[in-house]
Amino acid sequence: MRCPSCGYAESKVVDSRPSEDGASIRRRRECLDCGRRFTTYERLGDNPLVIVKSDGSSEAYNREKLFRGVLIACAKRPISSEQIAILIDDIELELRNDMRSEIKSKDLGEMVLARLRKLDDVAYVRFASVYKDFQNIEEFATALEGLD
Ligand SMILES: [Zn+2]
Repeated sequence: MRCPSCGYAESKVVDSRPSEDGASIRRRRECLDCGRRFTTYERLGDNPLVIVKSDGSSEAYNREKLFRGVLIACAKRPISSEQIAILIDDIELELRNDMRSEIKSKDLGEMVLARLRKLDDVAYVRFASVYKDFQNIEEFATALEGLD
């Protein structure tokens, strides 16, 4: 995002929020050279986030997959899917504000845990015990289904 005044390539994000229609992120940026503030609208998905797993392999971030993982951890707990959506929105916003393009699977797991801890102890423990490393959502799902 080049500064519209001086053309400098680097800016910092001073504010970030979803646009009214939810299809993009509105960002206030500040040029690191001249200090001018300007607004950008970035479509979701323009900067795909990459998850780096502990074995060094990587995959594109998938919101559905993360949602499903949290949903399973919250099974039969008094947590609505809206609360889970808010939890994930919060994580995505933090990642965007940091302008992260990749994150370790373990760190993403920690971000989920930090938020689940405030919501529900049981969901927290389930997530922590089975999904420490965010390695394999299918394995996680199977393991949690076996908990009942
Ligand atoms: Zn500038």
